[in-house]
Amino acid sequence: MSEHVLKILLSELVTVRVRCRQQGCGAIVEIPTEELDQKFHSGLCPFCRAVLQLPQNNHLAELARALRELKAAHQQVEVQFVIPQKAPSAG
Ligand SMILES: [Zn+2]
Repeated sequence: MSEHVLKILLSELVTVRVRCRQQGCGAIVEIPTEELDQKFHSGLCPFCRAVLQLPQNNHLAELARALRELKAAHQQVEVQFVIPQKAPSAG
């Protein structure tokens, strides 16, 4: 059985979609990765103000920093995200 995968270079990750899972909110924000830590620096949903992180850590800001630093290190390392593609269901 063949496997279809999608390989995305880190440099191709330019937009992040964040969805608040707070009941009654469900807001979706699509934001450039470069602005992720600015938009979510408070760690709160910009719409309902729900906390979007685990205590003591703003993981969205950490993700933004990690992406920025890995992109800057492109001479040393290439990072790809490999996403399996589901085969279209027959019938
Ligand atoms: Zn929300």
